[in-house]
Amino acid sequence: MSSSAESAPASYGHERLWSVDDHLADILAAVHPLDPIELQLLDAQGCVLVEDITVPVALPPFDNSSMDGYAVRTVDVAGATEEFPAVLTVVGDVAAGSGVLPEVGPGETARIMTGAVLPPGAEAVVPVEWTDGGTGGGAATSMRPAGEAPGGASGEVRVYRPVEAGGYVRSRGSDVQAGDLALEAGTVLGPPQIGLLAAIGRGSVRVRPRPRVVVLSTGSELVQPDELLGDGQIYDSNSFALTAAARDAGAIAYRVGAVTDDADTLRATIEDQLIRADMVVTTGGVSVGAYDVVKEALSSVGDEDEDGGGVDFRKLAMQPGKPQGFGSIGREHTPLLALPGNPVSSYVSFELFVRPAIRRLMGLEDVHRPKLHATLAADKPISSPAGRRQFLRGAYDAEAGSITPVGGAGSHLVAALAHADALIVVPEDSVSVEPGTDVEVVLIGR
Ligand code: AMP
Ligand code: MG
Repeated sequence: MSSSAESAPASYGHERLWSVDDHLADILAAVHPLDPIELQLLDAQGCVLVEDITVPVALPPFDNSSMDGYAVRTVDVAGATEEFPAVLTVVGDVAAGSGVLPEVGPGETARIMTGAVLPPGAEAVVPVEWTDGGTGGGAATSMRPAGEAPGGASGEVRVYRPVEAGGYVRSRGSDVQAGDLALEAGTVLGPPQIGLLAAIGRGSVRVRPRPRVVVLSTGSELVQPDELLGDGQIYDSNSFALTAAARDAGAIAYRVGAVTDDADTLRATIEDQLIRADMVVTTGGVSVGAYDVVKEALSSVGDEDEDGGGVDFRKLAMQPGKPQGFGSIGREHTPLLALPGNPVSSYVSFELFVRPAIRRLMGLEDVHRPKLHATLAADKPISSPAGRRQFLRGAYDAEAGSITPVGGAGSHLVAALAHADALIVVPEDSVSVEPGTDVEVVLIGR
């Protein structure tokens, strides 16, 4: 980045230095939640539900046994003891999924499996451990396949303890009743919510989809990993880091390899990508150097007959990440964020601006990373430029409530970034922070 306020081109003229907060507010005001679609349960994971889901049938749908044991009439086992067990006639089996149920009359019982329907006449289940296991019909575990007629178990069983009515029975509707609100619109669908939807028989739901985010990097010096580096070349790390970050934020991310510093090529590439993009993120080419083609390319991309489109290139009162572009492109006014090229600058910019925008597209209420305060653990003061909000990389120690800077302020320090899990925020009006000072921290780890 060669840019600075003094070296800004004339077109910036009375150039405004945007605050981080104003730039973010501008982005969030322009980005709206995507229209809902119907998605299969597992495709809806992490998405925001847009409909209230009502329970169609009670859960459980029928009274059923919570134990392997014997379904009984309570009066038949009242007063049963080890010494004087109740002796009951076994009239059949009930396995989970059994369609045909034996009737349990006075002095009778049916062997029952966990989850099986409580047969008519029975009021409770005696766990098999409270019995002698029964005399006929084979082992309690070798039940017949679901749906078969009752039978199997026969003979007698001795029951050594009484049971209350409803004992070891999971009653119909004890989880949720038909007509109850299962999940409210606005709920983020995590694994337990997806489990509940399946349990009540819903195979698909209306949610806001994951946004499709196209990530492309620019720079003629960039080479893809696994290829040989020539003189003056470096590997394209931004497109990988940001694609991964977009995914992490909840997006379906498409990585487009690096585009050379040629405005026509870049413009054509972006136009090609618009078909699959709910948002476009570029890196590099937004400073004031001769090869900073993103500005040149984006001034006219696909918005010839649109009003209101276009990308605004700004300078922000922050470090790293001073030059930023934001706007919309193409007929659909697809939001585009043009981030600076330095790896740390682009990553920090992504965290601050792109991640919240992705989460806004998803319809999430809380678009921000968690913020907290920690004590600066450093052996010397950290310095920060006046008038700019600085974001330093740090390692957060939750137990100690402290944060240690990782690496320096250099925006090329990718190794340090890889060992950080937080950003240390040094406010605009602060030029130095002493060790031991309370600082604001943004957690960016998982
Ligand atoms: P630029 O903003 O395009 O001038 O890039 C600023 C610095 O970041 C230069 O040193 C670039 O080589 C470097 N850079 C730009 N894009 C990438 C990328 N995709 N991966 C790694 N480094 C990059
Ligand atoms: Mg470049």
